[in-house]
Amino acid sequence: MTVVAFSHTGAKMASASGIRAIMDDIAVSTAAAAGGRPWLNLGIGNPAYIPEVAAAWQRLTMAALSENFAEASCRYGPSRGTPELVGAIVAYFRGRYGWDIGAQNVVVGPGSQLLGFIAAALFTGPGPAGGSKLVLPVVPDYTGYQGLVLTPGGIAGIEPVLEPDGGRSFRYQIDFAALERRDDIGMLLLSSPSNPAGRCLEAAEQDRLIALATARDVPLMIDNAYGEPFPCIGSTFVPPAWHPQVINCFTLSKAGLPGERIGFAIGSEAYIGPMVSFLANSALHAAQLAQHTIARALGSGALDTMVASSITPFYAQRRKLAESLLLDSLPASLAWRLHASTGGMFCWLWVDHDWFDDLALYQALKRKRVFVVPGRHFFTSQARPGPSGAHARQCFRLSISAPEAELTDGIGLIGETLAEMG
Ligand code: PLP
Repeated sequence: MTVVAFSHTGAKMASASGIRAIMDDIAVSTAAAAGGRPWLNLGIGNPAYIPEVAAAWQRLTMAALSENFAEASCRYGPSRGTPELVGAIVAYFRGRYGWDIGAQNVVVGPGSQLLGFIAAALFTGPGPAGGSKLVLPVVPDYTGYQGLVLTPGGIAGIEPVLEPDGGRSFRYQIDFAALERRDDIGMLLLSSPSNPAGRCLEAAEQDRLIALATARDVPLMIDNAYGEPFPCIGSTFVPPAWHPQVINCFTLSKAGLPGERIGFAIGSEAYIGPMVSFLANSALHAAQLAQHTIARALGSGALDTMVASSITPFYAQRRKLAESLLLDSLPASLAWRLHASTGGMFCWLWVDHDWFDDLALYQALKRKRVFVVPGRHFFTSQARPGPSGAHARQCFRLSISAPEAELTDGIGLIGETLAEMG
């Protein structure tokens, strides 16, 4: 095979992260499932297939296809987003939250992952004032963030404070003192509710992060992929904040359209303007037929209806089921704990024993045709709490969006495997 001479950026971006190798392993194994029992995939990041939500999106797409095809698909358009979608976003956030925003505050992109990438490239890394980093105020957080920086070591995660509740639950707290000591912050980024732990930002925490971003004059990007106003997976959220220092990121992916690749960010013109230019220089713009579909969903109230009558109740029921299955199936003799979750699509488990190793569990479950995601990948390499990263290797994530039978059988086999390992 030809040896390619990569640039520093090339070497970073061409490498497959640990989590990518796991995801490829899951994809290859489940695709090659000839014979034997079907795989139980609790590793997925896909939203659940909810028939009435899929049907609503299909109806809206058909309307866009019949009425907007020529203008949407046969022509290039503006990098900021189609006027229809940008206008619908402005009207929606003005109406729902009273935000005093206009088109200049909005950028639509091909997924929120790319919007995060653009912001990290614009606001972090080597620059005239030296180097700055993408700083995650609390890890574990979304593994995809580790691919957003173009330079090795360009991301730093702050170790969490672990707060066991004495029972089966625990919670991560933000170590603000450690965060505020850092002098290399180029941008702050976190998901709320978080992937993987389902941790929701509290109002006081949000205020303190905004104060820090203001003091350092850096953006605070809040990734609402699972939160308000859609898909609203969870029970309590602080509403997204409108503030000159905050870039709020939203996506349609977890509301049922991950394949259409549409996300958007709202923030001050000083941040959003350069993001639009970056998009123009790289992708030109996001696909426009999907933008028309989403403009219809926002403007007609169809998206709000999907969220309130289907998506939120669906995941609430799934979480209840998953929690009771875990209590019934995981060995009572083990010190396992579930992160107290107020939202999100996952259960995040901590097995507080020295012998436990997330990769060993992954392999043992794979032999039983069950997939979960090892915990270590959700921590940045600099931040693996506990003695030499012990905690990061004692956690794993499972998705509650798998079909109910898969969830039930999969959790049963996790319990069986943990009993064998212990
Ligand atoms: N942010 C978080 C927290 C996620 O979990 C994901 C996907 O799993 C994304 C962003 C990616 O979203 P999008 O499909 O809009 O790129």
